[in-house]
Amino acid sequence: MSIVVIGNGMAGSRLVTEIRERDREVPLTVFGAEPEQPYNRILLSNVLAGAAGPEQIGLVDRAWYGRNGVDARHGVEVTAIDRAARVVHASDGTATPYGTLVIATGSRSIVPPIPGTEDGLPEGALAFRTLDDCRAIIGAAEGARRAVVIGGGLLGIEAARGLAGRGLDVTVAHLAGHLMERQLDPGAGRCWRGPSAASGSAPAWRPMSPPCAPATTPARGG
Ligand SMILES: Cc1cc2nc3c(=O)[nH]c(=O)nc-3n(C[C@H](O)[C@H](O)[C@H](O)COP(=O)(O)OP(=O)(O)OC[C@H]3O[C@@H](n4cnc5c(N)ncnc54)[C@H](O)[C@@H]3O)c2cc1C
Repeated sequence: MSIVVIGNGMAGSRLVTEIRERDREVPLTVFGAEPEQPYNRILLSNVLAGAAGPEQIGLVDRAWYGRNGVDARHGVEVTAIDRAARVVHASDGTATPYGTLVIATGSRSIVPPIPGTEDGLPEGALAFRTLDDCRAIIGAAEGARRAVVIGGGLLGIEAARGLAGRGLDVTVAHLAGHLMERQLDPGAGRCWRGPSAASGSAPAWRPMSPPCAPATTPARGG
């Protein structure tokens, strides 16, 4: 019985290596839409900050797949699943039969419904999710003086830190009353403001307060 895994990110790549460790024989195929070898997405912030290179965050070496008899399709997206025929169709034009199908396709960045984003992100606006995004942000930061990060959760703060470290003046626009509201209570969240704003060390970044809500949010009160 063959196994096909869709998604060669953190979960998919680990699953594939674990299956192969337990079973040397089962036919195993993994599709990854991203062209790179699987990498540790959590460490993208270090790449953005310049503390690590892309080559330092790889998870499974490309050569491993060949050595272990795994059919790895890097940069190939699965476009359709034919459940009746038990076949996946992919962007490289192939049709691959499966006995067991695993979907490990992760998630995508949420872009808030801000006017101007209906047809995708405008020029100069970038999401932060993949190594490609990271390269694009680093490229855009070169020669730029200011950056605005929308979202003051963990990723937003990490992105702000990375950009500030590259010498940009960074503003964080955040929907809630304090940063990282899912992890921190208001008192702890306010501490983020103090040291960064008070230290006076350049470059600085500032959370926007009062909160910046998407323009489509209906006004409260009457
Ligand atoms: C900058 C950053 C920092 C983070 N920091 C933390 C942290 O500190 N702690 C924490 O717990 N989590 C963190 N996360 C979240 C963590 O990275 C995710 O929870 C984790 O990557 C999820 O793993 P996954 O394998 O499910 O998805 P992903 O790693 O997103 O992998 C999914 C893969 O599937 C591929 N794919 C999607 N559709 C298809 C298709 N149709 N065909 C083929 N391939 C497809 C995608 O291209 C992608 O490569 C962070 C995320 C980011 C972006």
